[in-house]
Amino acid sequence: MAKHLLQTGDLTKEEIEEIFDDAKDFLIKKPKSLLKNKLIITIFFESSTRTRSSFEVAAKRLGAEVVSLDVSRSSTKKGETLYDTAANLDAMGPNAIVVRHAHAGVPNILAKYVNCSLINGGDGAHAHPTQALLDLFTIKKYLGDVKNRKIAIVGDIKNSRVANSNISLLKRFGMDITLVAPPHFLPKRDDVKMSYSLKKIIDEVDVIMSLRTQTERHKLPFYASLKDYASDFCITKDLIKDKDIIILHPGPVHRNIDISDEVLADPRCKVLEQVKNGVAVRMAVLKKLIMENG
Ligand code: ASP
Repeated sequence: MAKHLLQTGDLTKEEIEEIFDDAKDFLIKKPKSLLKNKLIITIFFESSTRTRSSFEVAAKRLGAEVVSLDVSRSSTKKGETLYDTAANLDAMGPNAIVVRHAHAGVPNILAKYVNCSLINGGDGAHAHPTQALLDLFTIKKYLGDVKNRKIAIVGDIKNSRVANSNISLLKRFGMDITLVAPPHFLPKRDDVKMSYSLKKIIDEVDVIMSLRTQTERHKLPFYASLKDYASDFCITKDLIKDKDIIILHPGPVHRNIDISDEVLADPRCKVLEQVKNGVAVRMAVLKKLIMENG
């Protein structure tokens, strides 16, 4: 077992299946003493609603202690380098540090400065491994074996770490992926199918993963308004009709731009279930990394 979780490729398929088996148990049981006397530190240099609280709830449900560094008050603001911050936190003896940063690659570098496990909670447009794991876990619950099943990933794919991590993970599990977006939101790659039109692919897919426009990563506005984008790429009832399909979104959702109010309230939309599964999957990730790496 790798010591760190920086991208989904750090885990073998067998390890991922083990994580999913544990996560299924953790949806029912919360073994309060599993990580007793273990310490987990979270440092989020970029804002987060779900990921940070999900890791913290996961750690507490397993009995671990959690310390969250308030970055706005930390010494990074006083000019301390990231590496010194990480090394100093590591010297306090945590079993894992969860880090999020706006720059791609920061967790990979920090991993070299710490003795404990380092978990990537999202770095720039690069990777968000636990999000992809919880997405696959949610898809498997509805589809069972995902091999050759079809997913459309829709939205600002080029700037999305969620898309990046999902593309590599879902490909490994044999899913048939189509990226759907306007040309300027599509990455330059030739290993997955791409389309500019949701209507053209809707009849073929089992899953739609909608993504938020990552306005904070855009240097120039691509659309006059997000409403222009919505007219082509919002997931609406008119688009999905009564199709046998599930809809995912990692959050935060831009309502009526990414997904309409009506679809968000539709039982086929699994957004809140993703959040619930996310806690169980992160419990399983923490258990595996901490128990197997000491
Ligand atoms: N919450 C996800 C992330 O941190 C998706 C998003 O922000 O759009 O990448």
